[in-house]
Amino acid sequence: MAHVFCIANQKGGVGKTTTTVNLAAALAKVGQRALLIDLDPQGNATMGSGIDKRALTLSVYDVLLELASVAEARRRSEVGGYDVLGANRELAGAEIELVGLERRDQRLRGALSAVAADYDIVVIDCPPSLSLLTLNGLCSAHGVVVPMQCEYFALEGLTDLVNTIRQVHANLNPELQIIGLLRVMFDPRITLQQQVSEQLKGHFGDKVFDAVIPRNVRLAEAPSYGQPGVVFDPSAKGALAYLEFAREMVERVKQMA
Ligand code: ADP
Ligand code: MG
Repeated sequence: MAHVFCIANQKGGVGKTTTTVNLAAALAKVGQRALLIDLDPQGNATMGSGIDKRALTLSVYDVLLELASVAEARRRSEVGGYDVLGANRELAGAEIELVGLERRDQRLRGALSAVAADYDIVVIDCPPSLSLLTLNGLCSAHGVVVPMQCEYFALEGLTDLVNTIRQVHANLNPELQIIGLLRVMFDPRITLQQQVSEQLKGHFGDKVFDAVIPRNVRLAEAPSYGQPGVVFDPSAKGALAYLEFAREMVERVKQMA
């Protein structure tokens, strides 16, 4: 049965989408059956997996509104070796359309249970907010992975997310836990980043993944070719780091099982 993980952080531009796409592709490389769910109306994870968001006939929007099943709406990322439940701008409307509906925060969870046997791991790219879309992600998941940059206000920003996760755990999804914090866009030459990294380890201990994703231009270039970084330039430092991270995730999943 699939283990489901949200890649979440309410801040934008912190590396959520890059992490989701490269984790899915790296998991595929190490032999895992992976599904990527794009919960961001920007559709960047969809495009970065080589799937044209404008050409989607069915998307995660249709799944949330129970107009289609995951099996009907998923597509194959040929380049990445994993399946994608894609998103586009249509998803922005789901937020409003869901508000009046029953089980509005459990829609994705219900839909996913039908395909749980098809995958080892499901990774969900969350939008940069603590919205109903993110809530659907958190209610579906066993765990949350938080990508973060080691900057001055990084710890402060975590408080809101940690509180939200606690509330979801207490009220909506008792399975939910923080799997770990992933340091991304890391530059070891910057002393402040080293200090914040040490602080993180002090606060969160082994919840901080050993893998560290460096700032690496190849990771930033890959989406414009419609490819995950780990496929676009497999020997680049960023790609190697995401592969190490995927192996660490597989180990943590074994411990959860
Ligand atoms: P989010 O999904 O949290 O908004 P993104 O994954 O889209 O964040 O990343 C924001 C920007 O930073 C993008 O332009 C992306 O290409 C770039 N980026 C992300 N991770 C790295 C990295 N490790 N090295 C260099 N650029 C990165
Ligand atoms: Mg994003």
